[in-house]
Amino acid sequence: MRDYQMFINGQWCNSSKGTTFASLNPYTQQPWALIPQAAIEDVEWAVQSATNAFYATWRDYNGTERAKLMNNLADLLEENANLLAEIETTDNGKVIRETKNQVYFAARGYRFFAGAANKIYGEVIPLDDPDLFDYTIRTPLGVSLLIISWNSPLSLIANKLAPALAAGNTVIIKPSEHASASTLEFAKLVEKAGFPPGVINVVTGDGEVGKYLTEHPGIKKISFTGGAETGKRIAETAARNLVPVTLELGGKSPNIVFEDAELSKAVIGAVAGIFAATGQTCIAGSRLLVQRSIYQEFVEKVVEKTKSIRLGNPLNPETEMGPVANKQQFDKILGMIEKAKAEGAQVITGGYSPQSEELQNGYFLNPTIFSDVQNDMEIACEEVFGPVLSIIPFEDLEEAIQIANDTKYGLAAGIWTTDFKKIHYLTRKLEAGTVWVNTYRTAAPNAPFGGIKNSGYGKERSLEAIKEFTYVKNVMMNF
Ligand code: NAD
Repeated sequence: MRDYQMFINGQWCNSSKGTTFASLNPYTQQPWALIPQAAIEDVEWAVQSATNAFYATWRDYNGTERAKLMNNLADLLEENANLLAEIETTDNGKVIRETKNQVYFAARGYRFFAGAANKIYGEVIPLDDPDLFDYTIRTPLGVSLLIISWNSPLSLIANKLAPALAAGNTVIIKPSEHASASTLEFAKLVEKAGFPPGVINVVTGDGEVGKYLTEHPGIKKISFTGGAETGKRIAETAARNLVPVTLELGGKSPNIVFEDAELSKAVIGAVAGIFAATGQTCIAGSRLLVQRSIYQEFVEKVVEKTKSIRLGNPLNPETEMGPVANKQQFDKILGMIEKAKAEGAQVITGGYSPQSEELQNGYFLNPTIFSDVQNDMEIACEEVFGPVLSIIPFEDLEEAIQIANDTKYGLAAGIWTTDFKKIHYLTRKLEAGTVWVNTYRTAAPNAPFGGIKNSGYGKERSLEAIKEFTYVKNVMMNF
């Protein structure tokens, strides 16, 4: 069993109450790492350390100095990609080829924002009075709290930490109690990269620790990734304290296939769009909308491709789909599958746990597809966050738009068509933070990401993210 410590003020520490919890490997259901459950005193120390570091160092480092340390961190991520990926995969069951790619993607994020650190420009405001000169400065907010979910810790941290640091904020990272190990391993690289003590702190524990942190008056910004209900609670707390918040929440994204699409590509996009990462991504294309004229042919191809997905040990590079990340999630998904059946949706593949000896200890579910789903069934309305696809037929363009937008979420949407006119029309009409056209789940550190409606608000990645971690200070001068 690995024994992890928290990272506060550049020091490694246990919980001051000595409390810990075990992290389970979802492939074996065995505890494999011990994680500290922070006490109130630890939270106080972390907030104090981050506050001290903000005023004593990081706020006043220039962009070039910040960039140097951020680039060091990117180098270290790349050098340690195998180790980090192995730890994250062991902790949350995501297949190693994905966790490894995510480490490299995270490194790109730190490099992009390192490059931005000395380009955080204000504006010169032309005033009518020639004796006045007015300009703006983008100013860091202060101690920023970064709370993340369990599905992609290192990648989610990069989305928040890189712009926060570039803009001059200090941070406290609170990973999920279901997958904290890779974040604590990452903190070792933070130490090696040479950041001053207190600039980056990691406090571990459950939702109570998160709640205590969000309520702390020393926190000046909250950036949260997690479920919509938790997001709403955090937004309420932040509103009471008048703290700005960025919320990256769930999704129920439509992936829309038209009869004029290149069907071979659309099949791959539809299957990878939902079953990559065992369906445990916020952007999962969990509602596949298929035009009725190609419905039967396309669904058959999707089922065939889905049946070829290789389940197995997520540490094996050949494995294409690993287990669900934890028991809570596993039970929830099985419950939703049963409810969908009771509501009349047809299971056309999967719907149960695989029986093989190799997989019986893990939280495995066969990739599951429901066909002829009505958009008002629970399986089409609620986020499953698992390997379950709902296929919904549509007649024409307007019906596709109506079904696609008929959801409380608005994170992403996919379109598969070769008709440019249709593409331009749809990209305007779809209610989603990202619209993918003839691709799905592709990302870049310089392309903005973030949803609307119950998927949250605010942007990550791109220079938009710098705005989330700064306020605009106006300076008016009289000559
Ligand atoms: P969750 O909301 O249960 O937990 C997320 C984090 O919040 C954890 O660290 C948890 O300890 C903490 N937390 C729980 N209660 C809290 C409280 N009252 N105050 C402060 N912190 C609290 O979500 P989860 O199950 O870990 O993650 C799954 C969800 O995350 C899904 O809905 C998924 O779509 C979403 N997600 C969104 C994105 C995105 O970028 N939009 C990315 C990944 C995951």
